[in-house]
Amino acid sequence: MLDWLAWGSALGALAVVVRWWLRRVDQLGRRRAFPWISMVLLGAMTVGASAPGMLRSREERRLDRAASALVGIPVSVHCQALGSAALDDGTELGFVRYGADGRLEHQTLIKRDQCQALAAYMRSAKRDPTPAEVGAVHVLAHESMHMRNIADEALAECAAVQRDAELARLLGAPPAAARLVAVRYWRSSYPFMPAAYRSVGCRRGGRLDEHRPDPPW
Ligand SMILES: [Zn+2]
Repeated sequence: MLDWLAWGSALGALAVVVRWWLRRVDQLGRRRAFPWISMVLLGAMTVGASAPGMLRSREERRLDRAASALVGIPVSVHCQALGSAALDDGTELGFVRYGADGRLEHQTLIKRDQCQALAAYMRSAKRDPTPAEVGAVHVLAHESMHMRNIADEALAECAAVQRDAELARLLGAPPAAARLVAVRYWRSSYPFMPAAYRSVGCRRGGRLDEHRPDPPW
């Protein structure tokens, strides 16, 4: 909705300028003053309405880069906008759709709360991430595993817990702080995930242990 407001006020400003230009000299040959007040007001409305969208795309580009590095191919991350969040009654925190070729797409939608937590994490010193920030970094890691075409939830989840630290580093955390995200998710959230998201093989030395350098266990 804010995008429409931004476009509307920008077009309004254009209309004011065109109208002034066409009638800049009156019938007696006097020059009409430029409509500065209308232009300043419409300009402020344009900037005010487009700022959230511009901020969101800047955050999305940072998330694109981090997720692409994690997945190993170019992927894109979309953050849910305010308007669609208001209409959304789904319980998932992010999702990746299937493409026409039957493979999972290389783009994901991350829900608004999780995107805001990711933005807060990126802005923070990252030494003491909040549970919301830990969860949001993990949601992006999990959806990134779907973008690697891992459809099974338990497999995607276990691959993600082994990459939470790497993703936190890609989002700007120093190594020790990045590991904190992985360990906190592993201890505080993974055990409480629905059964479809867990696997007995997801543990040190288990069937799903990829023996990566920074596992959460
Ligand atoms: Zn999933």
